[in-house]
Amino acid sequence: MSAKPPAWLTQGWPHIWLPYAQMQTAQTPLAVVGANGVRLKLADGRELIDGVASWWTVAHGYNHPHIREAVARQLETLPHVMLGGLAHEQAFTLAKRLATFLPGDLNRVFFSDSGSVAVEVALKMAIQFHINRGERGRTKVLSFKGGYHGDTFATMAICDPDEGMHSLFKGALAEQFVVDLPSDHLKTEALDRILDRHAKEIAAVIVEPLVQGAAGMKFHSAETLRRIADAARRHDMVLILDEIFTGFARTGTMFAMNQGGLVPDIVCLGKALTGGTLPLAATVATDRIFEGFLSDDASKALMHGPTYMGNALACAAANASLDLFEQEPRIAQAARIEWALRRGLEPAREIPGVRDVRIKGAIGVIELEKLNKDELRRRFIEKGVWIRPFGNIVYTTPPLTMTDDELKIVTSAMVDVVRA
Ligand SMILES: *Cc1c(COP(=O)(O)O)cnc(C)c1O
Repeated sequence: MSAKPPAWLTQGWPHIWLPYAQMQTAQTPLAVVGANGVRLKLADGRELIDGVASWWTVAHGYNHPHIREAVARQLETLPHVMLGGLAHEQAFTLAKRLATFLPGDLNRVFFSDSGSVAVEVALKMAIQFHINRGERGRTKVLSFKGGYHGDTFATMAICDPDEGMHSLFKGALAEQFVVDLPSDHLKTEALDRILDRHAKEIAAVIVEPLVQGAAGMKFHSAETLRRIADAARRHDMVLILDEIFTGFARTGTMFAMNQGGLVPDIVCLGKALTGGTLPLAATVATDRIFEGFLSDDASKALMHGPTYMGNALACAAANASLDLFEQEPRIAQAARIEWALRRGLEPAREIPGVRDVRIKGAIGVIELEKLNKDELRRRFIEKGVWIRPFGNIVYTTPPLTMTDDELKIVTSAMVDVVRA
């Protein structure tokens, strides 16, 4: 272990602005110089098992040769070309394959480069879908407390009010309807009342199916999800499922919507789409939504087009990632991880200060009454594990390829650190 941090770290530190960090007190981050499988290699020689899969993206482990080779091959032929008026094989192939992976007639794929933008595009599609039909008043969106849909202004406004900092940004954010999930009879009635009262104003209902991730890792049932879908349908609103976190086997099925047995009007994908290698997101619409934009009238077209839309390197990575989902047993691995997390994290339930232990697919959560995240992070690093607590939760979302032995190291570390 060399004690001296690399020069690039100390020289860049006065110039970098980190995500979600109070920079006055932020600790210098860990210098990573390589990553393989489920392990991060640090500049000082240590290795950490990544229990977070780099914000839930690394589905197949780091540095997977199949993805690496696909990207390298693409780099030699065509790293990028604009999608306005030009086409390339990777984007077109990926669009077709995503339509096949997704249930129902989710057949039209609009690419972008981040999840937040994929959600923005979904909102734009939903609002314009109504406008194109001649309904001009439907410009609002209904979302749910505890949700997270991104950090841009339109998406902040549909996040949980605290998470989206609605009060801090009051005046800058559009006011939307952010309500309780219909988890019981009373809340279902309340949702129906709001949708009834504002049926002429609300264009779309958006939810993260089954797991609300970044705002607190909260779970809801397939029944609750179906209630939301039914309510949206009854009021002729566009149903958007934000599967940016839940997609690609994270909740135990290829998509969380599979467990609800439903097909939304629009789905947003991101995070694990490229297996954690390159930024790429997608907004996928059904035939009905897409057809709402077909017209002799040019103003009815969807006017959106990120510069790097459908980047060929990213699409090559995503195609290679889909190969792995087809060829390797990711769903079975998610089931195995679920079982290992249940066994490994259950003992935490008895620890004083633990409010809840919950597991769904390859997601394991210990919720505490309160926690000191910097202190916990330090203890995890001492145990050779990368876990990044937030709010009052300690969670793991391992790469789907993590072995039972590695899972045991992660869950034991979680229980031990929480106990201490
Ligand atoms: C991460 C996330 C987003 C935002 O994606 P970015 O790529 O960070 O912009 C949106 N919705 C959900 C459910 C997410 O988990």
